[in-house]
Amino acid sequence: MKHNVDKIKDLRGVLSNGGAMVKARRAMGLMGGTFNPIHYGHLVAAEAARDAFDLDQVIFVPSGQPPHKSGFFVADPEHRYLMTFLAIVSNQRFEISRVEIDRSGPSYTSDTLAHFHALDPTVAWYFITGADAILDIVSWHNTGGIFRYAHFIAASRPGYSLKKIEAMRRQLGDEPIARIHPLEVPALAISSSQIRERLTAGLSIKYLVPEAVEHYIAKNDVYAALKA
Ligand code: ATP
Ligand code: MG
Repeated sequence: MKHNVDKIKDLRGVLSNGGAMVKARRAMGLMGGTFNPIHYGHLVAAEAARDAFDLDQVIFVPSGQPPHKSGFFVADPEHRYLMTFLAIVSNQRFEISRVEIDRSGPSYTSDTLAHFHALDPTVAWYFITGADAILDIVSWHNTGGIFRYAHFIAASRPGYSLKKIEAMRRQLGDEPIARIHPLEVPALAISSSQIRERLTAGLSIKYLVPEAVEHYIAKNDVYAALKA
């Protein structure tokens, strides 16, 4: 009991020293992706980033019509949204947004970051990507804008080296360097492409995706087009 009273006294001290203002500037994560389908690699990266950067929440943002992806089957956005919902619903600190799905035209990360920044400019926004996706940043639409609105967490991913990210940071100049944060996360060699290949071949995807996602795919035959 005494212990709790002491804690409250400490807290009062912090608040009177301006701690309340520091606390008001919350940090939030954004996890963008096609999620075609969502798998444990996405969830582990998001949770590791949430922990390491003390993020209040991570908002998953499934893409609408992906500008970079063509030539392979992308499931209907509503299926990808529902699979993502099923995967994150049990985590108190994970949320989901329809912003890219409801926006017409191609999904640009810069538009999404501008959207969240405008929702609350006092929040420090952290966009979480894998080590492969961050390397595409330089080719993204409006590179300057993205660094104005958010920090970037580049999560390690089997097969992609964080060393390349170091080299890229040096090329980009001072402001982006300070805003790209490499992060080692538990290595899971899982990709959505591999899951789609397994579904095509009629192989099991158990333990690669949450059980509810596995069942949703089977019940709705989400990837039926791949088996034809
Ligand atoms: P695809 O094979 O279709 O490209 P993917 O597994 O790469 O699918 P995406 O939806 O493209 O999944 O990825 C969304 C984000 O999650 C990207 O930033 C990607 O780098 C990251 N990511 C995906 N899988 C992993 C993983 N196993 N470990 C760490 N990060 C990952
Ligand atoms: Mg990918």
